[in-house]
Parts: sequence; structure tokens; C-alpha cells
Amino acid sequence: MTLPKNLWVLGDGQLGAMLSHAGQPLGINVRPVDIMTPSDAQLPLEADDIITAEREQWPESQLSLQLSQHPHFINGPVFGRLADRFSQKSLLDELAVATSPWQLVDDNTNTEVLHQAYGERVLLKRRTGGYDGKGQHWLKHAEATTIPADWRNEAIAEQAINFDEEVSLVGVRTQDGRCLFYPLTLNLHQDGILMASIAPLSRLAPLQAEAEDMLSKVMHGLEYVGVMAMECFRVGEHLMVNELAPRVHNSGHWTQAGCHINQFELHLRALCNLPLHQPQVNFQCVMVNLIGVDKDDRWLSLPNAELFWYNKDVRVGRKVGHLNLSVHNKAMLDDSISHLKVWMPQQYQAPLDWILAEFA
Ligand code: ATP
Ligand code: MG
Repeated sequence: MTLPKNLWVLGDGQLGAMLSHAGQPLGINVRPVDIMTPSDAQLPLEADDIITAEREQWPESQLSLQLSQHPHFINGPVFGRLADRFSQKSLLDELAVATSPWQLVDDNTNTEVLHQAYGERVLLKRRTGGYDGKGQHWLKHAEATTIPADWRNEAIAEQAINFDEEVSLVGVRTQDGRCLFYPLTLNLHQDGILMASIAPLSRLAPLQAEAEDMLSKVMHGLEYVGVMAMECFRVGEHLMVNELAPRVHNSGHWTQAGCHINQFELHLRALCNLPLHQPQVNFQCVMVNLIGVDKDDRWLSLPNAELFWYNKDVRVGRKVGHLNLSVHNKAMLDDSISHLKVWMPQQYQAPLDWILAEFA
């Protein structure tokens, strides 16, 4: 097995940084590339280098073309297919993987017909570019909400799912087609943005086989290699896929503290065809996303906390870091959460209470 000289990442956000971090002990030279700032630079790509991406979409530029046209751009065709909700939902339907009923919003789509098909509340989602709940528009029958003109042909309409809770599965597929998975993660979203995750949870274990079957179908169907995440709604005893991400994922960040191979290392091992086996869970973990909050060194005084600060400018609603709290001791977890309740702003009270309630 020869490692590539460089493993390039399309994008240089926090996911690229955490891939670099994971590459270091493996001796893999991970090089995230800023593809958002216009540049005439040429990358010194070599024939044996490997290319991955930390995002589903990117602007076309000399740099991004250089990377995406390299013969070792792993999963190349998958990104575009999953970046567009129309082709992503079509794929789920083709593979008979349960997902919320949906249709394309085109020139002829009529709100009355949408409400007849899906009920009182219908969620419009932009086909591309949405993240953290941006790019969503609710249609409410009682309020006679209308379809924005510039959303036609650019959005899908989905039935509102009255889910019990949100979970996700992060898995990997190797070059020889083996699939391995972390245990399901329980996620709390607020205003469309992930606030906190907990994993593993024994009460979710009965859903694990169904989730693995769904994500296996997707990864095999796409002949995917590397880590993929599947966000789901739990409705009673079954799951429905909300969306897929062909990359490492925020809801897998707990694995940095909780598992002997974290999701970033798992992705790198799969891409480089290194030996890879079932990640062992060392600790149950809670992940708290740091959203629009200033860095606070008091977090480091929590004995079970690991801080990942992304060194980004702090803006309202922006992910600027996360805290992984290991749960080897419930009293310690309760104590850490009580401190965070005092230190964190108002919007954290509900997510922190949600964590406490899960461990009550
Ligand atoms: P991400 O940042 O994960 O890419 P996103 O903004 O692209 O998110 P979704 O994950 O599709 O979009 O939706 C964000 C959140 O909105 C979901 O986690 C869920 O809480 C809610 N949501 C999405 N689809 C539905 C639906 N059909 N019914 C009810 N709630 C939904
Ligand atoms: Mg999502």
C-alpha cells in the first residue's frame, strides 16, 4: 500500500481542517483548498494524488476544475447527484428507500394541489445550496402562503413529517464494497440548524439494522467510497431519510471523542485503501455545536469536554466550533451541562435541557 503524496480536499472549512488533523498520525498529507476565493494559482497535483470534497457544491474555477477533473477525484459524479435535491430524492425513490413524499415545483405546480396531496403544511426546499435550514419555505394552507416566483423549477415540495425525533447514521464503504457503520446518533435541530447530538443510545439500537440497510442501499447504488451521512426522521418504529451528505458530517463529530477511529480517519482510510475495521465505541458522547457564540475558555474547565474551535469570525447563526462531552460518568455530565446552562446564551437552554432529559 503506497500512500498518495497528497490528499486534496475541495474546500477549506472546518471539515477540511478536521480531515487534516486526522491525517497527521496516519502520515497522510491532507491539503484543503480554498475554492471560494478567485485565484490563478495552479496546484502541484501529481498523478497518484487523491481528491475528496468537504462540501457537495462548489463554484467552477480553474482550481476547482483542476481538482474535480483529476482521475482520482473519488466519488466525482456523486456530488452533483446528491447536491440537487431533485436527483437525490429521485435516487431514494429508485432505490425504494423511505423518504418524505415529494415532487418538483415547476411552472404548473399549484398550491391547492400540493395541499390536497400533502396536507395543511408543505415544505418547499431549494434544490441546491440549502444548509442549516436556509433555503426552506413553508406553505400553510390556512394562511394561503404562495410559491415564490423564483422558486419554480428551483425547488421541491415535501410533505411535512410529524416526526418523533431526528437521528442520523454515519457509515463508510470501502473500495471492495464493505460497509461499516457507527451507532445511530440522536440529533436536535433548532431553526433548521443542528444544536446537539447524543450517541450511542441503547434505546435507538432497534432501529440500527433498518438504518444500515437504507444507507447500504444508497452507498452500493452509488458505488460510493468513503464516509457518508444519512439524516433521518424517526416516525414510530421506522425511519425516513431526510437527506444524504456525501462526506463527513456534523452529526458524526462525537466520534472524535467517542470512537477509536473517528469519522475523519475512517474517511481517509477508505479513500487511501488502508486497512479498515469496525470502529469501537470507547465512550458515549454528547456533542454541543457552538453557534454564533464567542470562544469561552471556561469550557476547558469542564473535565469531560474536548473543544474544537474553528477559528472563524463569529456571526449570528454561524457554526464556529463544537464541544464533545464524554459520558463515562453521569454525574460529571450533569455537572458540565449545568455549567453550560449558566455560560451559554438563551438559545442553548432548550438544547441543554434536552440533553439532561435524555439522561434523566
Ligand atoms: P443541513 O444543514 O443538514 O444540510 P438543510 O438546511 O439542508 O440542512 P434539511 O436537513 O433538509 O435542510 O432540513 C433542516 C431541518 O428542517 C431538518 O433537520 C428538520 O428539522 C426540518 N425538516 C426538513 N424537512 C422536513 C419535513 N419534510 N418535515 C418536517 N420537518 C422537516
Ligand atoms: Mg439537514
